Formats: sequence, C-alpha cells, structure tokens
Amino acid sequence: PRKQRLLVVANRLPVSAVREGVDSYHLEISVGGLVSVKEFDTRWIGWAGVNVPDEVGQKALTKALAEMRCIPVFLDEEIVNEYYNGYCNNILWPLFHYLGLPQEDRLATTRSFQTQFDAYKKANQMFADVVNQHYQDGDVVWCHDYHLMFLPRCLKEYNDKMKVGWFLHTPFPSSEIHRTLPSRSELLRSVLAADLVGFHTYDYARHFVSACTRILGIEGTPEGVEDQGRLTRVAAFPIGIDSERFIRALALPEVQTHMKELKERFAGRKVMLGVDRLDMIKGIPQKILAFEKFLEENSHWHDKVVLLQIAVPSRTDCPEYQKLTSQVHEIVGRINGRFGTLTAVPIHHLDRSLDFHALCALYAVTDVALVTSLRDGMNLVSYEFVACQASKKGVLILSEFAGAAQSLGAGAILVNPWNITEVAASIGYALDMPADEREKRHQFNFKHVTTHTSQEWAATFVSSSSQTLYHFATTG
Ligand code: UDP
Repeated sequence: PRKQRLLVVANRLPVSAVREGVDSYHLEISVGGLVSVKEFDTRWIGWAGVNVPDEVGQKALTKALAEMRCIPVFLDEEIVNEYYNGYCNNILWPLFHYLGLPQEDRLATTRSFQTQFDAYKKANQMFADVVNQHYQDGDVVWCHDYHLMFLPRCLKEYNDKMKVGWFLHTPFPSSEIHRTLPSRSELLRSVLAADLVGFHTYDYARHFVSACTRILGIEGTPEGVEDQGRLTRVAAFPIGIDSERFIRALALPEVQTHMKELKERFAGRKVMLGVDRLDMIKGIPQKILAFEKFLEENSHWHDKVVLLQIAVPSRTDCPEYQKLTSQVHEIVGRINGRFGTLTAVPIHHLDRSLDFHALCALYAVTDVALVTSLRDGMNLVSYEFVACQASKKGVLILSEFAGAAQSLGAGAILVNPWNITEVAASIGYALDMPADEREKRHQFNFKHVTTHTSQEWAATFVSSSSQTLYHFATTG
C-alpha cells in the first residue's frame, strides 16, 4: 500500500545551506534534524537559512534540496528581520516564556509591533503558497511552532479539506499573559483553523483552551475547542528523543576514549553538568548562583566537585543575549576567583557547542545534571542525559518549569530555579545520594525516555491529525 504522504512545515528546514558559487550550495543536516517517521512518505518545507535573491540561485538550491526531500521557502532579509527576529524572537518567544520585554525596549517594541505582525502574516502566507504548490489530495500537513501560527488558517483558506495539524514546541502561557498581545485574537483564531492542535504538556493545552474561552468567548470541550459546530481537537503530545541513537553512540570506540579522558581529567571529583543554549529562559545565572551558594555552605566539597557548563551561543546579534553572556561570564569569573586554586577551578564554562560524540561522552561521565530553566517547552537535554546514564545512574536536578518535569518528575529532583537556597540544598542531596536511591530514580526515567521516543511522538501526532478529519467525515 502507498504510504501516507506528510508535509512537515517549519520555519527552518532540517538542512542548512551555504552558498558556494552562483549555482552551488553546501548542505548540512542539522543535529537531530530530519526526524523521519517510517510510516510516512515525508517532505520538509521551510527556510534554508540563507538569503537567495536571484533566480539562478533559487533554482539551484531548490534542486539540491530536493534530493533530501526538502522544499525551500525563500524569505528576503527584510522579512526575516521583521518576521523572524522581530515578531517571533522578540515578541512571541519572550511572551510565551513569561519573560517581560526589557524595560528600555518596551516602547520601541510596542511601536514596531504592527509592522512586525504584518511581516509575520506575510511570511506565513509565503509558507502557505509553497505548501499549496506541493500539496496532493490526502496529504497531512504538519505545521510547527510559534513561527507559523498563522499558517493553519492560510492553508484552510486554500482548501478546507486539507488535514492540518499544528504543534507548539514552546510553553503556551496562561491566558493572562496571552491577553497582553495586541494580536491575541487573530493568532488564536488562525491556530483554531487546524484540525488538531498539540502541546508538550497538558498544562499548556489547558492554557490554550482557556485563552480561547476568555479571549474569544468560545467553549472548551473535553476534546478541544468548539466554535459554531466546528471542533478543533486540542491535546498533549509530549515529544521524546531518539534514545537508541545516544545508547549506540556510547558504545563507539571514539566515545569510549573520550569518556576515559574525561574520567582521568576529573578523577577524584564529582562532575556536575549543565548544557543549554545561552538563552534567558535557561536560568544559567540562577544555576551558577545556586552552585556558588552550595560551595559557600559546603567547604568539604571544594576541590571535590566541578561544574561543567556548556552554553551554546544563540541569537548572538541580539543585544539582550550579548548582555546575558557578559553577565554569566562575570558571575563565573567571580566564583572561580573566590573558590579556585592554582591547579583547579570549580566552574568550566564553555561558550560553544560540542559535537554529538563529545556531548554523549560528557552526559555519560556526569554525576549530577543540572537543568534550571525558568520556562522551557520540554527540555530535551534532560532526556538525553538520562539516555546516557545506563551505567553511571547519575542524578537529574530538574526545574519544575520545564515541560520535562511532567514526565521525569518521579525520577528527578524537582526544584524551583528562582529559589537558590533550595537548588543549593538539592545539589548537596544529589551528590550524597545513596546508590540504591539513584538506581531507582534512574530506572524510572530511563524507562520513560526509552519508551517515549521522537518516532512515536511524530507517528501519534500525525495519525491523530488524519483521524480528526475522519471524525468529521463520519459525524457530518
Ligand atoms: N545540543 C547541541 N550542541 C551542543 C549542546 C546541545 O546540538 O553543543 C543540542 C542538545 O543535544 C539538544 C538541543 O541542543 O538536543 C537542546 O534542546 P533543548 O530542548 O534542551 O533546548 P532548546 O535549545 O531547544 O531550547
């Protein structure tokens, strides 16, 4: 039988393109990209991350990407700036993570709001045009994330028989937060044009439904949201990882060698690990301050514990992110000056990314992983750490504000990252935890991570998207 066709639409393609000549490109698959689901015949639609103003270049890139089943949407620099940097990253991202705008930027943002929202709608329409060119009857179209909230509506305006699902990878905030957005109603209505709307957790789904009730005045039902007889299903679909890929990597000689080096390098010390994009939502300063407090209160641990913090650079042209970088550097410098010796420092802070194998080795040798997100859609780092801990059975300290807390809560030590006294105490508890308790906690999380994979997540979401239409077909 023919496989179900699936069009995955996201702002970024899982492949990045770098132009090398008039009609040649270098293509690179992003880490964790191209999550293909074997049940479906999948195509990806999105922006390739390069500005290609000329027709020759566009044709060449389209051709090169086609080999990877990717279809580009061409966005010019101005649109990218207004839609992506502006509306998506400067307005929706902070809002959905409950971060206020920086005080001095607040008015400027308010002024530029309408232009950015117009660009957002225009960009979404451009994605819709490309989807429409490639759509065939019976396809399922899966729209991803806050960049494309306008897309379900554009698609349904073309063809109301199209099966459309939309999934949000960030939190959806309380309706009290969403209310403050000038385009609050328009965005909700556009999303509701989808047949199925998915979130990582039940809480985010509930927030979305209550925003629809309070802002649009339409009722929630046990299945979703119903407006004038038309139902949009709303549900939680917690994402997972490809756990086998991590487990397999640990067996590679290269990774084993790397693990051995790390163990020798940090012999006699417990290893604590943080892996985050350098972003306000990750609570990196809070984490480091909690670690400082722990050192202050536990002098017997000086020299016996090290915190390795990988801070992957992110949105580096944005002043807010630059400010955060220097803030973190300052705190790290102070603590290392205060507690370091001539031969060792308590914090190793890296402003860069690691390759996949180095990351796996690091996860595997870690005693305590520390995730202190102030808000985080899911947080996959916590899943990846657990997948790599089959032999060590280390402890996960996890923010209750990460979506992952809903799934790994029984195995992790949950903390409020704003309460550095509590986090410091949890660090002590984790470092001293007896082996049998570590084992029990690890088993719980490991079982969850290895049975709730990214493959299953995608398969469940897509089959629910197509079922929704069936439900309508049979109920009229
Ligand atoms: N990661 C990476 N390079 C690194 C460190 C991390 O590619 O040097 C990956 C990591 O493996 C994980 C992702 O970045 O898959 C981070 O995902 P998460 O959900 O934790 O946070 P996000 O960055 O999406 O907010």
